[in-house]
Amino acid sequence: MLENLTKNFSDLFLKLRRKSYLTEKDVDSILRDVRNVLLEADVNYKVAKNFCEEIRVKAVGEKVLKSLSPGDVVAKIIVDEMTSLLGSLKQELKLAGTPPVIMLVGLQGSGKTTTCAKLGVFLKNKGMNPLLSACDVKRPAASEQLEVLCSKYGLHFSPVNISSALKSVEDSLLSARKNMNGAVLLDTAGRLHVDEEMIGELVEIKEKFKPQEVLLVVDAMTGQEALQIAESFNQRVGISGIVLTKMDGDARGGAALSMKAVTGAPVKFLGTGERAEDLSEFYPHRMAQRITGMGDIATLVEKAQEAADRTESEKMAKKMMDFSFGLDDFLSQLKTLKKMGPMESILSMLPLNIGAGAKIDEKEIKRMEAIISSMTMSERQKPQIIDASRKKRIAAGSGTQITDVSNLIKQFEASKKMLKGMMGKSSLARKALTKGLTKKRKKR
Ligand code: GDP
Ligand code: MG
Repeated sequence: MLENLTKNFSDLFLKLRRKSYLTEKDVDSILRDVRNVLLEADVNYKVAKNFCEEIRVKAVGEKVLKSLSPGDVVAKIIVDEMTSLLGSLKQELKLAGTPPVIMLVGLQGSGKTTTCAKLGVFLKNKGMNPLLSACDVKRPAASEQLEVLCSKYGLHFSPVNISSALKSVEDSLLSARKNMNGAVLLDTAGRLHVDEEMIGELVEIKEKFKPQEVLLVVDAMTGQEALQIAESFNQRVGISGIVLTKMDGDARGGAALSMKAVTGAPVKFLGTGERAEDLSEFYPHRMAQRITGMGDIATLVEKAQEAADRTESEKMAKKMMDFSFGLDDFLSQLKTLKKMGPMESILSMLPLNIGAGAKIDEKEIKRMEAIISSMTMSERQKPQIIDASRKKRIAAGSGTQITDVSNLIKQFEASKKMLKGMMGKSSLARKALTKGLTKKRKKR
């Protein structure tokens, strides 16, 4: 997701953070680079200009330029400014009302029906038992598409009432009350362009049923055009949030970065694929950290907690915090990483300098397991005692080469060092871990 933008920003940050002193001229030159990166990502021109001006004002003070590591301070200013550009705080779905109604609007092909199913699964996972309502009177195929998705994901479905869109919504609300559905999702009719008839129908639905959310679904790949579409939906219908779809494609990022500034409506979700699970909630700060290559330790820690078994992760977190874990822990950690998903996506979440050195081949995990199983308990806890003759024995026992054993130990030491660095530098990771621990303790 947003590979080019992330690469360009990461390069820029590496350069910036290496500088031991900064002049005003340096800041200007950095900001020129920042602006070019943004424009290349198809960020709205005015948005890019304002963004750089804000940073300049904050970066050019005595305090920043004379600080001990001005590069780091400016880097942080850029991340903070990007967070605020993306909307500052994460915006939750409003789910009051009995039942809350969430209306999805957008052009044909933007991913409305798909997003409807994704949100259905998202709410179902929250225990809300949603009902998905087909409201496109003109295209019976649209109703069928939603029905197919509902049966695939075990969601309640309300078919279109061909007499009108309003009737369709009415029918679904009646059935939702009868079936005690916890939310109703409206898959409204789209068109290839914004036209009067479509807008009129959406306004009618909105006025009559007063949905808690009107979410605009837009295709992020369309860049600047997505902004125009969002502006006109917002002016004509009024939207409460945005879902950017097809972020898994080669979207350059302009839409994601400019949407909040241009329309005032926050991005609430990202669509990252065609399957129901390919939907993520939008966290401005995490996104900013990710784009700038500053890593996303919070997400990583959360994923690790989800994947690892509860007590296991609690034990591990404690060991990680006092750096007392041994090779056994290393192995179970590698297995947890494997459970968390493809290695590449995990590594891309780590800060660049760490991620680049932490290449882990998934096939190798099996070999590592064999090597560690051939070690004695004390060797696992204190790998430093493994001398040449022990290495020879372990290699023979696990059917590997002596260099494999040496490499494993090296990798273990490196990962220990990396964790130490991560815990030391990132109060965020420490907090996330401690929070995870206390939360779990309270539950008991
Ligand atoms: P609608 O006309 O707005 O209802 O759009 P659909 O939900 O029918 O989606 C149009 C096409 O986009 C379908 O082929 C979807 O599978 C695809 N699609 C929707 N969301 C995403 C996404 O986030 N990523 C990718 N790669 N494809 C998507
Ligand atoms: Mg559709």
